[in-house]
Amino acid sequence: MVYLALQRHYNAPKNQPHNKTIAIQKCGNYPYEISLRFAGCQLKCGACYSASYSWHPCFINSNRVVNNKTINDLVNDYNALPTGQPPYNWMRIVGGEPLKNQNYVDFLFNFLKSIQNTHIFNNKVIIQTNGIYLGQELLGNQNTNFSNILKQHLNDLKKIHPQLQIVIEISIKGSNANEFQLISQSNPNLFQYNIGVYNALKNLNISNLRPTVVAGFGINESLLLPGSRVSKNTRILTILNSNRTPIFHNSGWSPDFKNLYNDFLQDCKNRNINFQKMPMHGFDPNSGWGRNAIVNAKKYIIKYIIIIF
Ligand code: SF4
Repeated sequence: MVYLALQRHYNAPKNQPHNKTIAIQKCGNYPYEISLRFAGCQLKCGACYSASYSWHPCFINSNRVVNNKTINDLVNDYNALPTGQPPYNWMRIVGGEPLKNQNYVDFLFNFLKSIQNTHIFNNKVIIQTNGIYLGQELLGNQNTNFSNILKQHLNDLKKIHPQLQIVIEISIKGSNANEFQLISQSNPNLFQYNIGVYNALKNLNISNLRPTVVAGFGINESLLLPGSRVSKNTRILTILNSNRTPIFHNSGWSPDFKNLYNDFLQDCKNRNINFQKMPMHGFDPNSGWGRNAIVNAKKYIIKYIIIIF
């Protein structure tokens, strides 16, 4: 079964119900992005931006969550979007966890295969994932056929939409297994999949797929790395480890995280992408989702939250 979180366009009146599977959201430059939101997740991050429709098992009680939408329903909402120039920046696929299991993966790719006119969103799809399911299948269950299934989906997509690029953005939940447990409130053994899936996806060598990583719940701009700077007026929130160092501090990096960090920077260099550091998604206390995340974080991990001015 596939659970979706319904949305409303960013400029819809607040009293309008969430009733769209595909909606325009305010991200990037005008005319912003279009997004599709899945519901449910294997993890339970204390500062989850979408806890009400992500955390198991409470997500099914959210009045935004539905499990009866068909691919046709999504295509109809997609076709109803206003279009013009310039195009939307991209289509963002987000959750909850959009790649939670095989049903979710098939549903997502079958939807992408069913739409037309992908130039209206610049031919760019960004899938934000924790990578746990992909990692379990690609790294943990070597005897399954999952890599072939994924390749088949991407090959089919390439035939239908030759210009379409799929970016899978893996949100890394900590620089070691303890931090993973602290952030995700989940089994630390899952860290190996979260950290390992970037290379597993790269090794598939699929031309229309680009894996990338962000450090989830790191501070907005890293104060932790040499050469980092932040304006005096910027308010930053992050999470402290039990030894009082901020998460992602380089004193705690596991060998796997170090390798991942270096691989990521090397890959950026090879592609002429100007990243000097791994990007970090922190809490923005001034955004709607940031406020929700902080409310959740305070319930679960308050002693680990710090504010730096
Ligand atoms: S992985 Fe993402 S959706 Fe899942 S609980 Fe963590 S922040 Fe929420």
